[in-house]
Amino acid sequence: MPKTLYIDGRWVSAVAGGTRDIHCPADGRPVGTVDEATAADTEAAIAAARRAFDAGDWPATPAFERGRLLLRVADALIERKDEFARAESLDTGKRIYESELDIDDIAASFRYFGTLAGHDAGRVVDPGLPDVVSRVVKEPVGVCGMITPWNYPLLQVAWKVAPALAAGNTFVLKPSELTPHTAILLMDVLEKAGLPAGVGNLVLGAGADAGAPLSESDDVDLISFTGGLVTGRIIAAAAAPSVKKVALELGGKNPNIVFSDADFDAAVDNALNAAFVHSGLVCSAGARLVVHESIHDRFVDELVRRAKQIRMGGPFDDDVDTGPLISAEHRDKVTAYVKAGIDEGAVLRCGGTWPEGELASGYFYSPTVLDECTSGMSVVQEEGFGPVVTVETFTTEDEAVAIGNDTRYGLAAGVWSQDAGLVERVAARLRHGTVWINDFHPYLPQAEWGGYGRSGNGRELGPTGLGEYQELKHIYQNLRPAVTGWFPQR
Ligand code: NAD
Repeated sequence: MPKTLYIDGRWVSAVAGGTRDIHCPADGRPVGTVDEATAADTEAAIAAARRAFDAGDWPATPAFERGRLLLRVADALIERKDEFARAESLDTGKRIYESELDIDDIAASFRYFGTLAGHDAGRVVDPGLPDVVSRVVKEPVGVCGMITPWNYPLLQVAWKVAPALAAGNTFVLKPSELTPHTAILLMDVLEKAGLPAGVGNLVLGAGADAGAPLSESDDVDLISFTGGLVTGRIIAAAAAPSVKKVALELGGKNPNIVFSDADFDAAVDNALNAAFVHSGLVCSAGARLVVHESIHDRFVDELVRRAKQIRMGGPFDDDVDTGPLISAEHRDKVTAYVKAGIDEGAVLRCGGTWPEGELASGYFYSPTVLDECTSGMSVVQEEGFGPVVTVETFTTEDEAVAIGNDTRYGLAAGVWSQDAGLVERVAARLRHGTVWINDFHPYLPQAEWGGYGRSGNGRELGPTGLGEYQELKHIYQNLRPAVTGWFPQR
């Protein structure tokens, strides 16, 4: 039995004895076997996290000391970067170079929250009254359930685990069943960094079995979920009866708006990055290109010319630009999504195929450009989550903003122009959680990340990302207690 669940400070197997084989999506090769938890394992993990929280030692540990532990984790991640990056690439099929960048980003998140811990213990309030002291203090929420996706497996985990520990919570993590290996390695790092038993717990397995108890349990105080809209709705509904805190980081359908005076080469190059980096498996992918009609033909011709040259391949192959999708089922979904777009009237300019030859054993899908799209098409409104970009045109600034906001999602958007006033006006009117001006994709651990509308609620990263894991308590003290006289004195 693999013993890959980490519960109450011990590595254990699933009680029902289930296991799952993990395969690399680039070529189908087996990369490991892990335990497959069921509800019983998750309930044991919740009980351990509850005991550790209620015992009070971790919440009472000075915040700076909790922060120091996170800084040790950041250092260990960099020391073990090759091991982590290799595990991430084998699980996801993404290029090793990208996985290495991810590990740098993950270490940066631990470092950011390690440094932030204890810097803001609350505030003193001016009560406007004599002989009263009033203050608002920050406390941990309690036991946190965390459920994460497969596209950036450890990065999404880090954005939850680091602030939760900084704030003094305990947690149960359930990463995607498809990409478990870096979460296992992280628990090893946390253990070696000195995390007390029960404070951090890991269960692996399918969402409906191993994940669902985290939403439902009365012993979990907060659930933080990153993943798709449909799952987010199920989790929010399951969490409602216990009225726990719910944070949702869901999908996006992110407009990348290019005005006629944009730096042409930079805008084309970044449009490629926006849509096709990591095969478009990015919640903030610029999958909706909105280009001024006067430059449409030249822009799309150049985009298509370069998209056709993108080289797909395995994570350790040289000269590869991008990797596979995560599974056969996922590739079928992307295929159906593109077909629906073409049926609705979109014009396929490139892609829409599965590469053959030596790539046939992986779940590759060629970079795809769908031209002549309009806002009403499902392919424009729904998140395809693959290497697919739709193209729409606009003529006026108002029209660009209207198209950019014509989505139920609201995660991220890009605006390209050399007119400083115009980009500021447009950025101010776009209803998205992140707006990039003359760039696409960068994020900062110190800046909040999250979505408007159906892209979710709450924010990760930044001071607010720590605040998600804190309760606020108002403590009011009367320095001269006295009889109020409100009620008869008898
Ligand atoms: P998914 O919703 O299928 O699964 C996410 C996680 O939820 C997995 O761990 C899964 O096992 C679990 N799960 C599934 N059903 C569950 C249930 N009933 N109860 C509890 N847990 C359950 O998403 P995915 O396919 O892994 O990831 C892709 C999605 O994630 C995309 O929509 C993408 O946009 C989104 N995403 C968003 C962000 C963001 O920051 N907003 C970041 C990364 C990914």
